[in-house]
Amino acid sequence: MEQNIHQTLKSVFGYDQFRSAQQEIIERLLAGRDCFVLMPTGGGKSLCYQLPALHRDGVGLVVSPLISLMKDQVDALVANGVQAAFYNSSLSGVQARRVLAELHAGQLDLLYVAPERLMSDDFLARLADIPVALIAIDEAHCISQWGHDFRPEYRKLGGLRQHFPQVPIVALTATAEPHTRRDIIERLQLQEAQSFITGYDRPNIRYTVLEKQKPFSQLRTFLAGRPDEAGIVYCLSRKRVDKLCQQLVDAGFAAAPYHAGLTDQQRREAQERFLYDEVRIIVATVAFGMGIDKSNIRFVVHYDIPKNIESFYQETGRSGRDGLPAEALLLFGYGDIQVARGLIEKTMNPEYRRIELHKLNAMIGFAEALGCRRRVLLGYFGEQPDRDCGNCDICLNPPEMIDITEDSRKALSCVYRVGQRFGAGHVIAVLRGSSGERIVRLGHDRLSTYGIGADLSQDYWGSIIRHLVHRGYLSQDVGDYSVLRLTEASWPLLRGEQRLEMARPRIRAEQVGRKTKA
Ligand code: ADP
Ligand code: ZN
Repeated sequence: MEQNIHQTLKSVFGYDQFRSAQQEIIERLLAGRDCFVLMPTGGGKSLCYQLPALHRDGVGLVVSPLISLMKDQVDALVANGVQAAFYNSSLSGVQARRVLAELHAGQLDLLYVAPERLMSDDFLARLADIPVALIAIDEAHCISQWGHDFRPEYRKLGGLRQHFPQVPIVALTATAEPHTRRDIIERLQLQEAQSFITGYDRPNIRYTVLEKQKPFSQLRTFLAGRPDEAGIVYCLSRKRVDKLCQQLVDAGFAAAPYHAGLTDQQRREAQERFLYDEVRIIVATVAFGMGIDKSNIRFVVHYDIPKNIESFYQETGRSGRDGLPAEALLLFGYGDIQVARGLIEKTMNPEYRRIELHKLNAMIGFAEALGCRRRVLLGYFGEQPDRDCGNCDICLNPPEMIDITEDSRKALSCVYRVGQRFGAGHVIAVLRGSSGERIVRLGHDRLSTYGIGADLSQDYWGSIIRHLVHRGYLSQDVGDYSVLRLTEASWPLLRGEQRLEMARPRIRAEQVGRKTKA
């Protein structure tokens, strides 16, 4: 058998060897067992069901949500001499009857079918007397509400197992975190399905997270350090894209905006100018990158935190397709988390809310990681690398834990002294003993906490306060003034009953990608 599938690989598909887990998956399906396959886009999922369908009796049924994709795949298979067809709403009556005739005559190796067609009573009745080699569910995450693209018509596929108790089922997807995975396996009632999770690592991409402080200047420094490279800067809203892009152009960078609010023409133009290196920076919302095939994108910056790891992975994955080193920089601001949470909490569906918050938390976990970032990323997709990557900011510069107990107490008592009525900017100004007019007018230069932090930088105090907010030792209004207030948790710290540590903040964009310590 082994030689057989290798021969087919060469003679039908024209490849010399299997990639990663392909062979194992194929062998398992040939043995009549179920599989769950999680492989990134471009990883080679199609072969995993196309090839075994040729080796088993009967027709291989492939469920796919996208009509256009079905046609492409079928065309490619037919060109390789495979008897393949698709059956969906795009066919005329005559065409559909022809496909069904071929199906009944046992002439098809592979039939691509839309989920609602497959699960129609009429079609299931037909299949009752036709041998089925295997059933492949492509884009299997569509069956789960946990996935990012739930499709109600996929839900019915849950009935497949009853109809085809003896037929191996393989579910395939490029994006499914553990909840979605479990959900897929349960809903499809896969039996002892072995999971194959492979190929998520993009070793040439270096991940770096900087604490967001004066983000524009951080970005400018980062960009200035790579003057000849092309890259994408992602923001969460159109408004931010337009504003940031203008700032970049004003600062002399060749940048163009890209988002769903532009006309088709404008977007096409931006894409082309980027493709032909007329602009080197695209400032975009998530909408950018779907159809773009530019292999020498050297960096991706997330100016705002993405809403989940799936998006982060997909967006950073647009860099370094040529295999050469690429940089993925995330500017991580605690304020952005509040905005992201706020957006999620506005949505009505409680189930959706729960899922999205869970995903956002995983994204925050990545940004706050104190260990290898690649481990966190791959772990999310279910891969367990056996060592740290050596190519992320944490591996290059392991975090240094610093004791911030005393400084936190200073900050908390200053918040208290100014009456819990001011934001971080004012609190820091008081701590650092600024002689600003407002401080004097308010009499805050006479407070006991005035100037007690003059020896430390504004940025440092910013980090301390953000950390305190984030850890729940301070609360911050979500509003224009972001007023800081003490919380229950503040008191033990203030009274000196508790110690507090944090990782030394990383803010300097000059250092991205460099090893700064021996
Ligand atoms: P996916 O469905 O996972 O996005 P595809 O099945 O479309 O990926 O495969 C991506 C590309 O890799 C295709 O061009 C395919 O022909 C190619 N490919 C798949 N398997 C192999 C292999 N074993 N050797 C070489 N190329 C392969
Ligand atoms: Zn690492």
